[in-house]
Amino acid sequence: MPKEEDYYDILGISKNATETEIKKAYRKMAIKYHPDKNQGNKDAEEKFKKISQAYEVLSDKNKRAQYDQFGHAAFTSGGRSTHGFSGAGFHDPMDVFAQFFGNAGAGGGSSFFEDLFGGGGSRRSASSAVDGADLRYDLEIDFEDAVYGADKKITVPRMSACDKCNSTGCEPGSGRKVCSRCGGSGQVALSQGIFSIRQTCPACHGAGEIVEKPCRNCRGSGRIHTEKKLQIHIPPGVDTGSRLRIANEGESGLRGGHNGDLYVFIHVRQHDIFHREGNDIICEMPVSYAVAALGGVVEVPTISGKAKMKIPPGTQNSTILRLKGKGVPALRGGARGNMHVKVFVEVPSNISREQKELLEKFDSSLSDIRNNPIKAGFERKAKPFLGNE
Ligand SMILES: [Zn+2]
Ligand SMILES: [Zn+2]
Repeated sequence: MPKEEDYYDILGISKNATETEIKKAYRKMAIKYHPDKNQGNKDAEEKFKKISQAYEVLSDKNKRAQYDQFGHAAFTSGGRSTHGFSGAGFHDPMDVFAQFFGNAGAGGGSSFFEDLFGGGGSRRSASSAVDGADLRYDLEIDFEDAVYGADKKITVPRMSACDKCNSTGCEPGSGRKVCSRCGGSGQVALSQGIFSIRQTCPACHGAGEIVEKPCRNCRGSGRIHTEKKLQIHIPPGVDTGSRLRIANEGESGLRGGHNGDLYVFIHVRQHDIFHREGNDIICEMPVSYAVAALGGVVEVPTISGKAKMKIPPGTQNSTILRLKGKGVPALRGGARGNMHVKVFVEVPSNISREQKELLEKFDSSLSDIRNNPIKAGFERKAKPFLGNE
């Protein structure tokens, strides 16, 4: 068994040190070797554990008496060494620390965080500013509004600073006190055998402090649920997936913290006849069989009203014809998109007897290979497969 260091030596005090001297020594050394101040320093961590053990034994009259009489053997049970500090009755050094400074803080001002973090570093004090969170708002708009832009009124549910308590969470006239459950550290240790697991304190949820008398307006949270009405401008050219940032319209900051931002996510409703591909608008338009064959001028609906479009003779199904500049304005400047009309040649249906005869007569007149060049080409390629049945 390795030789244990003397507890009096660890704290740098004499064998007949008074209770006050023990406390003073612990206070000084625990601050110096606290893991928060010595990140990643294993020696400091080990030292912090030893200081904690020494303090635990020497600050307890009975334990100190046993230690004075039997030395470390007093805390060895069943041949098990005590140098694993969570064993044989020692507490987590962080808890010993929190207990010590929590009580000190409750009694005589909270100088402990200042000692530890170099003045004014009250990282969990009630006056610390908290920034508000960013918010997301999903907005569905019409196809036309996405193309031309629009002004929209929206109502954003959000948490705002409580003005009754000035977002402190305390009923006017009352304040905060150090959490007695965790002694102000915001964490508690759960011991399971020789293991000790640190957890966020359930009483103060990690804040280290609790509100004495919660504000009745916000139930102590410092924020209240509100609905903010906003008028927002949607610029021309947005599309599904566009995101508008509205500065400072997110959740309120607390105690001087900054407000979050509001992000409006755009979703464009599907249109009956138009759809978008980037800044181009696509429209699939039915054209009669005769017009597709003979050619002609047709009226085309565009997002900015009707336009005339020339159909060349012999236009096949799925041909795409372009109307320049009839698309969507570019969101960040630049040329406006185009409109593409995809021709859908509609084969006549529900035809009368008379029409049927005309069509049969017409079909039998198609003797020239140039009347159906696509069909002719296909038949040539398919010939080997059409030879025998
Ligand atoms: Zn607590
Ligand atoms: Zn309040």
